[in-house]
Amino acid sequence: MLTACAKNPFKRLTDAEPDATIPVRELQDYNLNPEQAKALQERYQGTLYYKGDPEKKYVALTFDDGPDGVYTPQILSILHDKGVPATFFVVGKQANAYPEVLQRIAQEGHAIGNHSWDHRKLTRLSSDELTDQVRSTEDEIRRITGFKTTLFRTPYGSFDSNVINELKSLGYKVVEWSIYTRDLKGKNKNQILSVVNKEVSPGSIILQHCRATVPGQLNASVQALPEIIDQLRAQGYEFVTVERIIQ
Ligand SMILES: [Zn+2]
Repeated sequence: MLTACAKNPFKRLTDAEPDATIPVRELQDYNLNPEQAKALQERYQGTLYYKGDPEKKYVALTFDDGPDGVYTPQILSILHDKGVPATFFVVGKQANAYPEVLQRIAQEGHAIGNHSWDHRKLTRLSSDELTDQVRSTEDEIRRITGFKTTLFRTPYGSFDSNVINELKSLGYKVVEWSIYTRDLKGKNKNQILSVVNKEVSPGSIILQHCRATVPGQLNASVQALPEIIDQLRAQGYEFVTVERIIQ
């Protein structure tokens, strides 16, 4: 299944084909065709989302892979200063290591989603392993914040129909994204701003990160954040959580 998908990751879904051939996408070469995202969202209506309602001038900021002790607090301070709600897709292992940062995310009014326990590619897991990744993170978020999340983002944006159906049966809505600024790829502030300004439209869900794997990796992302907020507001956009944008 993985081999077949890798050959043609953007194969159109209008072909009559079994669900299992839905492409497995890799974050590192992520360049999703908006038409295909739309087709997937329609195919898994009510369960899988890439974008919100295009009739409303909403945009959702999302921050993945945290919490951490370096970037997440800086991002939270900017969001607080600007009065902007965002959504954090957290990794259970990180929540366990930085519970006070996760508490702060919840206390400051942001939405929290589940991003697995330790960022495994879910398509490679057994059903039991997948359930364990989801439930352990769900339990950790609830233990720390008292809140049970029903939002899930798959690590690497990677899934197949089995993964989607399992997540649905576990009570989740799967929320991917429509804009990735490639903030983990060493883009500078202006490149990040340019991606957002070029690709934004009503209903956009923007992916950035709040935990780095290399020191300094997200400096440009943090620098860009206040300007992203100011520029999109100047264009008439309202920032909302993922829960609200997919309503
Ligand atoms: Zn991630």
